[in-house]
Amino acid sequence: MTIGIYPGSFDPVTLGHLDIIKRSSKIVDKLIIGVLSNSAKRPMFSAEERVHMLELVIGDIGNATVQTFDGLTVEFARSLGATVMFRGLRAVTDFEYEIQIAQTNHALSPDIDTVFLTTSVKYSYLSSSIVKEVASYEGNIAKFVPEIILPLVTSKIKSLRSVNNGNRQKQ
Ligand code: ADP
Repeated sequence: MTIGIYPGSFDPVTLGHLDIIKRSSKIVDKLIIGVLSNSAKRPMFSAEERVHMLELVIGDIGNATVQTFDGLTVEFARSLGATVMFRGLRAVTDFEYEIQIAQTNHALSPDIDTVFLTTSVKYSYLSSSIVKEVASYEGNIAKFVPEIILPLVTSKIKSLRSVNNGNRQKQ
């Protein structure tokens, strides 16, 4: 049985991520989506919120599950018996960073291979940062995130906006 992981921040999961999840779940017998819980990246959504959104999104993909992890991705993969690590590539800028990570991971753990899936062209511009940026200006993000999580993303951003406005008024 081939086990693969798809690690990332998913802050929040986008249609671009979902595309990679669907395609990678067809390549392996079991796919585990790893949500990086490390707070160094200062995510907008807590690890629990990101896991919950991913669980909603993968509803009909029978061989995919979600877990949080911290520390080295290769150690996470090894602990699950995974031999494949999926990453998505959008543009040349992703490639430069991703190849360095993949080669480091290969040096650390030669029995785990990184498989790159190129983004579907329609999602090549999409990132979690873009979603947060557009949503923070009250733009429509319906084309960027899976429909099922749309209310969760918009209500979170609305609540953060009202906290920020409250803080500004206090100053
Ligand atoms: P982001 O770069 O959006 O913050 P993550 O760290 O959560 O995303 O990314 C997890 C993986 O998904 C990375 O390999 C990243 O390159 C890939 N990815 C992100 N957005 C897309 C997209 N629109 N199309 C294909 N792959 C993507």
